[in-house]
Amino acid sequence: MRRNRQTGWKIPTAAFWCVTALAVLLTVLSGLLYLGYRLRSAERDSAVREAEEQRMLVAQEEADAKTAKEALNEAETRNAELEKRVDELETQVDELNIRLTIALSTPVPLPTPTPAPKTAPGALSPGDTVQREALEEELSLYFTAETIERDGDVFARINGKSYRDNPNIRLEDLRYLRILHYNFDHEIQSGEMIVNRRIADDVLNVFRELFDAEYEIQSVFLVDNYWTGNGTSTDTASIDVNNTSAFNYREATGSNHLSNHAYGLAIDINPQQNPYVWYSGGRLRYAHDNAAPYVDRTVDDPHVIKKDDVCYSIFIKYGFTWGGNWKSPIDYQHFEKKLG
Ligand SMILES: [Zn+2]
Repeated sequence: MRRNRQTGWKIPTAAFWCVTALAVLLTVLSGLLYLGYRLRSAERDSAVREAEEQRMLVAQEEADAKTAKEALNEAETRNAELEKRVDELETQVDELNIRLTIALSTPVPLPTPTPAPKTAPGALSPGDTVQREALEEELSLYFTAETIERDGDVFARINGKSYRDNPNIRLEDLRYLRILHYNFDHEIQSGEMIVNRRIADDVLNVFRELFDAEYEIQSVFLVDNYWTGNGTSTDTASIDVNNTSAFNYREATGSNHLSNHAYGLAIDINPQQNPYVWYSGGRLRYAHDNAAPYVDRTVDDPHVIKKDDVCYSIFIKYGFTWGGNWKSPIDYQHFEKKLG
C-alpha cells in the first residue's frame, strides 16, 4: 500500500479494491440469498398455513360428513322403525278386514218370532172374532159337533124356546155345532148352530168349505138369542138382524105343518140379502123391510145367493136343495136336506 503524498493517507491497492469488491459482492450475494431464503420461507409458511387451513377445512368437512352420516343413520333407523310400524298397522288392517268379511258373510240370525198364543177351540164364544194367526194350524178343530146334554149350558139356553119336548124330534137327535165363518167385515168369527145329527157332518163340511172360500156370513147364533116368546116371531127377530140359523122347533112359514127347521134339517143363510118372497095378487111380496133392496135378484152384492155361485155350489155338493129354486114361495136363504 502506498501513501498519498499530499495527505499522507495510504492509498488502497488494487488487491485491496478487489478484496473489497469481492467482499461487497459477497455481502450483496449473501443479502440476496438471505432475501431469497426469506421469500421462500415466507412462501413456505404461507403454504403451510394454507395447507393447515385446508386440513382444518377437510377435518371440519369430515366432521360435518360424520355428523351428517350419523343423522342419516338415525333417520334410516327411524325410517325402519316407521316402516315396521306401518307393516304392523297393515297387518292389523288385514286382520280387521278378514274379521269384517267374516262378520258380513255370517248370516245374522233373525230374532225368533214369538209365536202368537193360539186360541183353543173351546175358548171361543159365539160371536168372538179371532186373527188367523191365533188359530191352530188344523182348522178342523174349530168345526165340531157335540151332543146336547140336559144338564149342559146349551140345553139351558134352548129349553122351552127353540127346543121343546115333542113327539117329532128328540134332543138326542140334535147336535150343537161350533163353526168359524167370515163376517161382513171379513173378520174370522165364531159361530154356533143346532142341526139334526144325521146331517151334522155334512153341515160341518159345508161351513168348512164356505170358510175356506172366505164366504161372508154376518152372524151365526142360535135363534134363542132373539127369543120373543114363540118360535115364529123369534124367527122374524133373527131375520131382522140378518142372523144365519138352523134349528127352531116351529111351523113352516105360512103353514100348519112343521118346518124342516123343526127337524134341524134346514139352514137359512144371510136372510136379509136372501129373503123369503112370494107372489100374491100378481105381485111379488116379502115380509121383512130390510129385504127390499134384495128382492130384485139382479142386485150386485156378494151376499146375494145366486144359482151356481160358491154358496149354492157347496150346499148342492153335500146334497142340499135350495129354496131359491122354488116357484112360489121362493126362499132364497133356505137350504135343506131330505133324509132318505
Ligand atoms: Zn129356512
